[in-house]
Amino acid sequence: MSIPLIVQKYGGSSVANARRIQRVARRIVKARKAGCRLVVVVSALGDTTDDLIELAHKIAKEPNEREMDMLLSTGEQVSVALLAIAVDRLGVKAISFTGPQVGIITDKFHTKARILDINTERIQKALKEGYVVIVAGFQGKTDSEEITTLGRGGSDLTAVALAKALKARHCEIYTDVDGVFTADPRIVRDARKIERISYEEILELASLGAKVMHSRSVEVGKKFNVPIYVRNSMHNGEGTLITKETQKMEDITVSGVALTEDEAKVTIYQVPDRPGVAAKIFARLAKANINIDMIIQNKTQTKTTDISFTVFKNELARALHVVKKAARELQAQQVVCDENIAKVSVVGIGMRSHSGIAARMFAALARKKINIQMISTSEIKISCVIDGKRGKEAVRAIHREFKLGKNSVKKR
Ligand code: ADP
Ligand code: ASP
Ligand code: MG
Repeated sequence: MSIPLIVQKYGGSSVANARRIQRVARRIVKARKAGCRLVVVVSALGDTTDDLIELAHKIAKEPNEREMDMLLSTGEQVSVALLAIAVDRLGVKAISFTGPQVGIITDKFHTKARILDINTERIQKALKEGYVVIVAGFQGKTDSEEITTLGRGGSDLTAVALAKALKARHCEIYTDVDGVFTADPRIVRDARKIERISYEEILELASLGAKVMHSRSVEVGKKFNVPIYVRNSMHNGEGTLITKETQKMEDITVSGVALTEDEAKVTIYQVPDRPGVAAKIFARLAKANINIDMIIQNKTQTKTTDISFTVFKNELARALHVVKKAARELQAQQVVCDENIAKVSVVGIGMRSHSGIAARMFAALARKKINIQMISTSEIKISCVIDGKRGKEAVRAIHREFKLGKNSVKKR
C-alpha cells in the first residue's frame, strides 16, 4: 500500500508568532513520523493581510488590484519560509514554495482569482525526495506570470484544491476554534460543535458569513468529494468532518446560523417599470465583475418601481459608479446606499422536508423588535437583511429559537 498523503492547512492565528509556528512544526513532525506524506498550506502570520491592506489604503483609496496582489502575496511567503525553517530544525526535511512556484494557475481577476489548473510536478518531485512540502496559501499566477490572490480566506481553497489535485486521503484545516459550530462561537457562547456536516450545509454557512471555511474551497471539496476535517491547531480533538449528506443529517432541521456584516444595500428609486430594465442594470454590474447577492423588486401601482440589491462593501464604490450611470440613462430618480445592514441566515438540509422554519425565524426577530428589510430563501436556507447594529443580537435570538445550544439537541 502506498504511504497516505495528507494536506494540512494552518490559518493566520495558528502561525501568529514564533512560538505558534514552532507548535505547528511539532504537529507536522508528529504526522510525518506517524508515516504520512505531507503537503502543508499556510496563511500569512496573524493579521498580516489586514495590516497590508490598511497600509495600502493609507496611500490610495482604491489601490490598483494588480499591485494589491503583489503586496498581499508577500504575507504568505514569509510564513512558509518560517515554517520550513521550524520543521527543518526539528530534524525533518521541509521545503517551502510560493503558489506560482508550484504551478497554481489562475484566471486574471486580481484579488479574487479562480484556480484553473495545478501542475503538481514540482510538489510530487519534492514529496518523492522525502520533503514535507510547505505551500503559500491564497496565491497563484496567471498564464502570463502575473501574481494573483484568491480572495480573503483563500488559503482554504489552496489546500482543498491541492488535496484534489494530489489525490490526498483527506484535507485537514487547522484553525483557532474546535471545528464548525452551530453559530460563530465568538457571538453565541452556547454554540455547539457539529461532529459531521454536509458539503451543502457548510457551503451555505460559508457563503452566508461563517468564515471558518472559505466557500469556494467547500465547492471544490463537494465537487470532487474531498473529505475535510476542521480542527483546532491548539488541541488534539477530532474536529468536524465535512462530508456527503447522510440520512441521519436530515433529522436535524436547522444546523446553523450565520451572520454577514460586510454587505451594503443599494436602492434605485423610481426606475421605469418595463421589460429589460433589470437586465440592463445587472448586465452592467456583471460586466464590471461585481458580485450581487440579494435582489428585490416590487410591482407598484405607478409606472415606476424601486430595485434594491446587496453587494460586498469592498465593491460598493465600483457598484455605485456603474449603477449611477445606468440609472441616469434609464431616467431613474435616485440611487441610495446603506452600509449599515447585516444579513442573518439559518441553514439546514432538513428544511427541505420541514415547513414553518421561516415563520419561527421571523417570530424570533419580531420578539426582539428587529425589523426585516429583505428576505431570500432557497431549499436549505433563509436569509434576512436587518439593521446592521442588531446582527449579533439576531443571531443569538434565532440560535435560541431553534434550540441549537450545547444542551438542547441530540448529537449528529
Ligand atoms: P483562519 O485564520 O484559521 O483561517 P478564520 O478566522 O478565517 O481562521 O476562521 C475561523 C473563525 O471563524 C473562528 O475564529 C470563528 O470566530 C469564525 N466562525 C464564524 N462562524 C463559525 C462557525 N459556524 N463555526 C466555527 N467558527 C466560526
Ligand atoms: N491571508 C489571507 C487572508 O487573510 C488568506 C487566508 O488567510 O486564508 O485572507
Ligand atoms: Mg480563514
